Amino acid sequence: MGDCLFCSIAGGKTDTEILHETEDLVVFRDINPHAPVHLLIVPKKHIRSINDLRPEDLEIVSKLIYTAKEMAGRMKINESGYRLFFNVEKGGGQVIFHLHLHMIGGW
Ligand SMILES: [Zn+2]
Repeated sequence: MGDCLFCSIAGGKTDTEILHETEDLVVFRDINPHAPVHLLIVPKKHIRSINDLRPEDLEIVSKLIYTAKEMAGRMKINESGYRLFFNVEKGGGQVIFHLHLHMIGGW
């Protein structure tokens, strides 16, 4: 997936600031934020969308959600609250076709 933006970011091939990284995911800020805090939690594995999830991907999806919870604490929005969502396909607002979990909050 040489021309996938999120594969490039996850592979450290851009100057995007990585806020958190593990062996299978990265976290960085959305470049077009919809809230004071708007993070993207992105698996390093290229999965096109929720529609392309396979049974072997369930563990990474759990890790995305768990990482969101940890990042909410780090960003100090865990008590005020936040929203987690996946946009699925064009009609669902998906713009980059590499699975990512949005976390917005900080109002
Ligand atoms: Zn990708």
